[in-house]
Amino acid sequence: MEFKENISLAKYSNYKIGGPARYFFEAKSEREMMWALKEAKRRNIPVLVIAGGTNLLIGDEGFEGLVLRPMIATLRVRGGARKPTVEVGAGVSVAELLKFATKRSLSGLEWAGGLPGTVGGAVRGNAGCFGGEIKDRIVQVRSVDVRTMKIVKRNAKQCGFRYRDSIFKRNEKRNGGGEVVLGVTLRLEKGDARAIARGVREKIEYRRVHQPLEYPNIGSMFKNVPLAALYPKSGQKYRMAVAAGEISHRGTRFSVKTDPFPVIAAAKLISESGLRGVSMGGAMISPKHPNFIVNALGASSWDVAVLILLIKEVVHRKFGIRLEEEVQIV
Ligand SMILES: Cc1cc2nc3c(=O)[nH]c(=O)nc-3n(C[C@H](O)[C@H](O)[C@H](O)COP(=O)(O)OP(=O)(O)OC[C@H]3O[C@@H](n4cnc5c(N)ncnc54)[C@H](O)[C@@H]3O)c2cc1C
Repeated sequence: MEFKENISLAKYSNYKIGGPARYFFEAKSEREMMWALKEAKRRNIPVLVIAGGTNLLIGDEGFEGLVLRPMIATLRVRGGARKPTVEVGAGVSVAELLKFATKRSLSGLEWAGGLPGTVGGAVRGNAGCFGGEIKDRIVQVRSVDVRTMKIVKRNAKQCGFRYRDSIFKRNEKRNGGGEVVLGVTLRLEKGDARAIARGVREKIEYRRVHQPLEYPNIGSMFKNVPLAALYPKSGQKYRMAVAAGEISHRGTRFSVKTDPFPVIAAAKLISESGLRGVSMGGAMISPKHPNFIVNALGASSWDVAVLILLIKEVVHRKFGIRLEEEVQIV
């Protein structure tokens, strides 16, 4: 086993943006993953995990360390028909998992239809949409602590899931090394294969119609804004806004949707700030879905970063709201 050197990361980014990795390794098993992490430690180089690359803005200068790609592809059903669980390797794509579950009439993940990326990435960011979140299906997550090289097993509660957040994400900042998710056990239910397939298809179709999938992109740039950021949760205004399903803020009407708690859409804030279609270099704020910044024409990471700053500044000036990035910037 050996690291590859000077590999362009644009190829591994859904955005088609990113400079070179000094070292690069695809780990097809837990054994290979442990070897790569130990080797990085021995050489004293930093490690960056890139999986599906669907939530990452990679810098034009690349990464001066080891880029590690979890490719662990385990996919098997356990338990009987009454309590089926699925063991999934971190490198399995959500699309593959959905195909596998549909074929075996296993229900519970239909909300994830069209969700790009891998299962490991979804767990780390507690991916969610259409009222579902990966946390609701977790029985156990296996990870390796990069600092101690110990395998850690956690149940859903111990993973500390929050909105687009988990202990794995928080630990990256806390202990400077973080953890790599190796595999997950999910709890599913027996269902009707045709109904499951339809549920998945509907979500894929919704995304095709509403999202600018015709361009390289990394999904929603910003998190939706919790209603609690505008009104105190215990107050009457908050309750009235939830009941009415809308609010008026600085002269603009916003729908309040529950996903998974009351929020107003970042896309609407960006649109009402007059930023639809604004571009910088090869990057453009999508006219179709303004919370997406698409790579319209050979954009650089810098082009995207400028648009991120512009959106944050204009939305703050107009609405007094500070948007928070949903994507990871490296
Ligand atoms: C068109 C489009 C639509 C999207 N829609 C949604 C949506 O509806 N809801 C939603 O939640 N997200 C959405 N996303 C964002 C993205 O799909 C998810 O965040 C996805 O779960 C990321 O997985 P990934 O494998 O691509 O991770 P990557 O982009 O490769 O990595 C993201 C982060 O996770 C870390 N990571 C990845 N794998 C592991 C691992 N095994 N162990 C530890 N850390 C790891 C990386 O280091 C990085 O910090 C969308 C993206 C696109 C392009």
